[in-house]
Amino acid sequence: MTSLHFAVVGAGTAGIATAILLAKRNIQVTLFEKAPTLDPVGAGLLLQPAGLAVFEHLGILDDALKLGARVNGLEGRLPNQQLLVNSHYHQVGAEYYGLGMHRSSLCHVLASKAQSYPDLIHWQMDADIQSYSESKHEIRVKGLISGQTYEGGFDGLIIANGARSTLRPQAWVKVDQAYPWGAKWTIVPECLALDPEILHQFHQGSKLMLGILPTGAIPSQPEQRLSSIFWSMPTPLLDHFLRRSQDRVQWLNHIADQWPEVATWLANVIHQPNEHGLMQSRQWLSAQYRDVVMSKFGQARVAVIGDAAHAMSPQLGQGANMALLDAWALSQSIDFSRRHEQIDWSKLWQHYHQQRGSSTRFYQFLSRLITPLYQSDLWWAGGLRDLSFGWMYKVPYFRKEMALTVSGLKSGMFTQMQYQDIARSDRHDLST
Ligand SMILES: Cc1cc2nc3c(=O)[nH]c(=O)nc-3n(C[C@H](O)[C@H](O)[C@H](O)COP(=O)(O)OP(=O)(O)OC[C@H]3O[C@@H](n4cnc5c(N)ncnc54)[C@H](O)[C@@H]3O)c2cc1C
Repeated sequence: MTSLHFAVVGAGTAGIATAILLAKRNIQVTLFEKAPTLDPVGAGLLLQPAGLAVFEHLGILDDALKLGARVNGLEGRLPNQQLLVNSHYHQVGAEYYGLGMHRSSLCHVLASKAQSYPDLIHWQMDADIQSYSESKHEIRVKGLISGQTYEGGFDGLIIANGARSTLRPQAWVKVDQAYPWGAKWTIVPECLALDPEILHQFHQGSKLMLGILPTGAIPSQPEQRLSSIFWSMPTPLLDHFLRRSQDRVQWLNHIADQWPEVATWLANVIHQPNEHGLMQSRQWLSAQYRDVVMSKFGQARVAVIGDAAHAMSPQLGQGANMALLDAWALSQSIDFSRRHEQIDWSKLWQHYHQQRGSSTRFYQFLSRLITPLYQSDLWWAGGLRDLSFGWMYKVPYFRKEMALTVSGLKSGMFTQMQYQDIARSDRHDLST
């Protein structure tokens, strides 16, 4: 058995995928998760072809397909019925598609795979890792496990504890700020009033945006297909959304005026307020986003991956995909820099930054550029977007570039990754 032993902090998408890929390389992993049980809360999300390539590489694509909902493209509509966004995966290649998934299903398929390595992946739930110290020969991780002080030594530390990480090295952080806009979201029975293989968005200027995402099913109720509904809002208003019965009526009336094709279905699935005039508080939850930009993602024995390394608004739908690509690239870089039980750390980070640096910069740049066009108070943002996007989708080159960007396969402004290079990398020795 290997003597290499890594600590992974955070059992989200990035952390669990990394643990599996390290275990496949016969590396011991202790996976620390702050929550006492794996019970992720959050809206459904869209896995892009790049993320699905990592799923294929991990050997979990078939399980994900059983629970997820196939998505063929994204359509964003204006109140005048004009299609603002009209991006379909087949514009990249006939075989491409996305997969809408409930977060608990995503976690379920990843965690089930991780549990097939009981001798290599050691789960530490209720473990709040708060600091670490590094020496030439090891890294010591410190925190609380079930309220008791904990300290342990490892060969490497992978920080995958999400957008609000306080563990990432502050010296590498260039930007760390909350977005002024977020969203309310809820999960309801599948929307069949619209094409169920499309992510539908409805836009009015940059202040109003409704999204309906096919979300598939949860493991305990595989027959009940679901949709996620998103409603964009400035963060100070999130707590006030649909609090009273008249708010619900006004909201539904507004949607009926602008997008009648979805209004009747919404009126059926959005609950009436209770007898006190309040909406069921559990029906709508709030999502807030952060913008995190780092100068580097790893050095010596420490890596930062997933949202901890590059949180951004979900407008491009790339966060979970990027987390999966980070895990994949990290495992490839370990292969590249490992000689038996020794890792050449500088070689590892050079390889990793080559794999992930320019792609991450591209998506973060684009996300920061376009998010205000969809979510802001800027009076000109919606008009500028409607004009430029309308023109762009008429030019075949840009149409394809948009689909490629959404698919998560861009590795820079003018370069791209190949699905098969990710899915089939090292397949010969990773077939377990
Ligand atoms: C509304 C919304 C919609 C989205 N839609 C999409 C989409 O369509 N497509 C897409 O690809 N992405 C989407 N995203 C982004 C996506 O959810 C994230 O990018 C992704 O989940 C990041 O995974 P992660 O593993 O890096 O972090 P997380 O999933 O946040 O996991 C971090 C884990 O670390 C744990 N943790 C935190 N601190 C500690 C600690 N001190 N010690 C131990 N454990 C700790 C947390 O409990 C958590 O389990 C969306 C995000 C939002 C908010």
